[in-house]
Amino acid sequence: MDSRQLKTHWSKICDQLKADIGESAFENWLKPMAIIEVKGSEVSCSVPSRFMRDWIQANYIERLKVLWNDEVASIQSVSLVIQTKPNLTPQDRENESSFIVDGAKGKVKQSGISGDKESKGEIAAPLDPKFTFDQFVVGKPNEFAYAAARRVAEAATVPFNPLFLYGGVGLGKTHLMNAIAWEILERDPSRTIMYLSAEKFMYRFVRALREQNTVDFKEQFRSVDVLMIDDVQFIGGRDATQEEFFHTFNALVDQGRQIILSADQSPSELEGLEDRLKSRLNCGLVADIHTTTYELRLAILEMKAEKLNIDAPRKVIEFLAHKITANVRELEGALNRVAAHTQLVGRELTLETCQEVLHDLLRANDRRVTIEEIQKRVAEHFNIRLADMHSARRSRSVARPRQVAMYLAKQLTSRSLPEIGRKFGGRDHTTVMHAVKKVDELRDIDSSFAEDVELLKRMLEA
Ligand code: ADP
Ligand code: MG
Repeated sequence: MDSRQLKTHWSKICDQLKADIGESAFENWLKPMAIIEVKGSEVSCSVPSRFMRDWIQANYIERLKVLWNDEVASIQSVSLVIQTKPNLTPQDRENESSFIVDGAKGKVKQSGISGDKESKGEIAAPLDPKFTFDQFVVGKPNEFAYAAARRVAEAATVPFNPLFLYGGVGLGKTHLMNAIAWEILERDPSRTIMYLSAEKFMYRFVRALREQNTVDFKEQFRSVDVLMIDDVQFIGGRDATQEEFFHTFNALVDQGRQIILSADQSPSELEGLEDRLKSRLNCGLVADIHTTTYELRLAILEMKAEKLNIDAPRKVIEFLAHKITANVRELEGALNRVAAHTQLVGRELTLETCQEVLHDLLRANDRRVTIEEIQKRVAEHFNIRLADMHSARRSRSVARPRQVAMYLAKQLTSRSLPEIGRKFGGRDHTTVMHAVKKVDELRDIDSSFAEDVELLKRMLEA
């Protein structure tokens, strides 16, 4: 294979990778790779440092193999060779810069690591303008983290150092960090805030090492009022970076500067982190964000629907809050999809369109439902006690919900009529049969009842 062909293949693979892992991860980790040669079934690629090699080996090698193999069937493996590149192009420098928010101008400045500080002019703000405190919905799962974030943002002197926010993906860590930054700048525009991901921190550090520019590197980090590093779980395991991080951390704390960190786990649970660093991280305030509750999801959906200016019926909002439980990001994504669809086709937003548009997402959440879950959900929905599913009470206020539950049990599970009867306080199978018939009849004549049943059914199918 000649080098031109090889280049073409590589550029196709790069496009695919960009799409797979995102522009910024690609820029940081894979762009510096270059193809050396193909020998037999192996393609060898150069990477600029041992650190990069380890990182790519740990995170991207399988994907690279697959993509190469798709592109050139004879290629079975990918090897990484460390080759230091002595000269950096201006483009390289461009890519490695990060962002300092310079409050005095209310703008964000970009400054290169290699001494050419603040010479690049202004660029788009890296802080997300949507991520402010007033756009953050507070509920039980996040109220503590929210309160801690507000405290740090509003305090005149550092109240706790560091503030360590942790929680699962998509639960609002980045949002809260951005909100702190906005608030601090609003109160005192002269403060310098640096916000970056741990990945970027490491990447910059590695580049600085390679260019023997660590003094400038340290300078930059140690001259800020507030340092925020997002997703520090990525720092674990890489000794030199951890070391640098530890020193930067101590230097800033000693100078009374505020540090805010986020991770997907608590400091003690973070893997591959040195003990002294762990105990340092535990010194400040550790605040966790718990998984969302139904109430929080409802509140978030209501706010976002209003922001999107869509008229979402209560039933749709409730349906989404019941169905999309993984995290806020997914919830938001689902609402955006539904909104975009209804606006595009100009159709009214109903439960049906919602289910149609999200069918792939919803199917992914599908699982088998049990009679117990049906009883619980139906009891909640009609506001009766769970015990009344089994009780002998016959008043209509409990008998009707019970019939709905039996009907749903027949529809959604593979249980036989006698089995269902037994689960409802040992009732006879003819009672179940009667319930199914009754609910069917009512659905035909009472559309709001029919909708109730439909809603319950969809919720339970989650
Ligand atoms: P993380 O950094 O924890 O992975 P993000 O902060 O990026 O999560 O949040 C994911 C998305 O969900 C963002 O669009 C964010 O605005 C939104 N989000 C998360 N929590 C809330 C909340 N409590 N109120 C409003 N939006 C939220
Ligand atoms: Mg985040």
